[in-house]
This record gives sequence, C-alpha cells and structure tokens, in this order.
Amino acid sequence: MRIIDFHTHCFPPHLAPKALSKLSENIHKEPEYDGTPQGLIKKMDACGIDKSVVLNIATNSRQESNVNAFALSLLGDEYGGRLIPFGSVHPDNPNVRDTIKTLIDGGIKGIKIHPDYTGHMVDSDELKPIFAACCEYGLPIVIHAGWDPVSPSLIHAPPEKTAKVLGEFPGLRLVAAHMGGTLLWEDVLRYLAGKDIWFDTSLACEYGLNPDLICSIIDAHPKDKILFGSDGPWSCPTKVADYIRSLGLGQKMEENIFYKNAEALLGITAV
Ligand SMILES: [Zn+2]
Repeated sequence: MRIIDFHTHCFPPHLAPKALSKLSENIHKEPEYDGTPQGLIKKMDACGIDKSVVLNIATNSRQESNVNAFALSLLGDEYGGRLIPFGSVHPDNPNVRDTIKTLIDGGIKGIKIHPDYTGHMVDSDELKPIFAACCEYGLPIVIHAGWDPVSPSLIHAPPEKTAKVLGEFPGLRLVAAHMGGTLLWEDVLRYLAGKDIWFDTSLACEYGLNPDLICSIIDAHPKDKILFGSDGPWSCPTKVADYIRSLGLGQKMEENIFYKNAEALLGITAV
C-alpha cells in the first residue's frame, strides 16, 4: 500500500549531528536515522514510505528565514519530489501574512508551529495572525499538540484550547499532531473528536495510547481526517504502520490513513 508519512523531521547536514544530540537528550530517545535529508530518504526506502512531510519549526524569530530557506531547498531535484517540506512562522514575525504568501509562492504546502517551544498557549492572541493568514490562504497548519518534554509542566496546546481555535477560525485546515494531544487522549475524545480538524498518528503507540481509546477516537472522527505520521527520526515508520494495521480498521480506512487523506489535504499524489 502507498504510504505518505505526514510527520517527519530533518536538518541541514552541517547542523544535523548537533540538533539530533540535543533533541535526543530532551526527548530521551535514540534517532532512527542521522537527521539529514538523505538519511530520511534512506529510512523511507527501508520502510516503504513513498513521500514524507518534513516539519520544520522556527523556535525563535532569528531562525525563521534560515528554517524556511532550508524547507524550500528540500523541493530540489536531488530529493526526487519525495519530501514535502513545511515552512514555519514565528509569532514575533510582524509580517506573518507576507511570509506565508512567499512560502506558498515558493511551493510550500503547509506550515508547522510548536507552541511549547515558542512558549505561547495555542489560543493566545499572539498566534491569531498566523491562524488568520492560514485561513485566508487555505494553507494547512500543523501544531504540536499535547504534552512535550520541552515544557513538561505546562502543556501549551491541550485539546480544550485547541477546540477554541477551531471555533474562532472556521475552515482553518488545522492538523493537531500526536492524535490531537500527546497523553491527553481522553480529552481529545471529549473536545476534538468529530470536529473539523486532522490528527496525525505520530507518537501514539510510543506513548502508550491503547488500542481501544485510539479506535474510539477514530470511530468518532471524520474518516478523511486521520493521517499516518511517524515523527521520524524519533520513531520508526514501520513500527507505527504495524500499530495502525494491528487495529483492524479495514482496508478502506487504512488506505485513508496511509495516504488518501494526506493526498486530499495537500493536493498531491503519493507517487
Ligand atoms: Zn515531531
């Protein structure tokens, strides 16, 4: 079956070793590849992944232009169109709308923000210009959702607050990573399941989302809004795919999760 991995990371080769060792320390996990674009593609080949969305994050405003230049570089011929880079916008950027327009003009299909790294609650005023611009341009936006080791005692995107954003920005193409919120899956079922929001499957099995609860969330949710994601290099796509297959969702739903929903959201094909 075709597979689009909606949640991966890689870094410029000269920064990858340092970035990975720092992140590995924070996350307490060993990476599955060396963190470079070529390392990601090798891992995709080994795991039968056709295309990967690469989520880049500007964790401070000084980095934003370098992060976006790297994202655009992943559209180069040497990657054979197999990487789908997302850009990023930092909430301190005073010209969010222009930055997003420039990214779209460059061929970027979405952006990612990480409220725990930037220190903003998901429903805070500082993030509203970003959501408004994404709404205006119909641009998908991925947020880190739920618990994160970088801010263990304050969760910046809990399901209840993410639901408030949906209410305020109807039509926003919002992807809440990690099945709507790492370690807060009862709240995902309560506040987000069934709403107009996408979830990716990343980290669900690593953080112990039990099969009954993930099936309840999937059952309650629109069938076109669950996306396969691994969070590579912090998990192996094959392990996540095996977990999804073990749920017994049936071929049609597996096709949706593994590639059809991503194709529809991004307006691309898996091959
Ligand atoms: Zn991630």
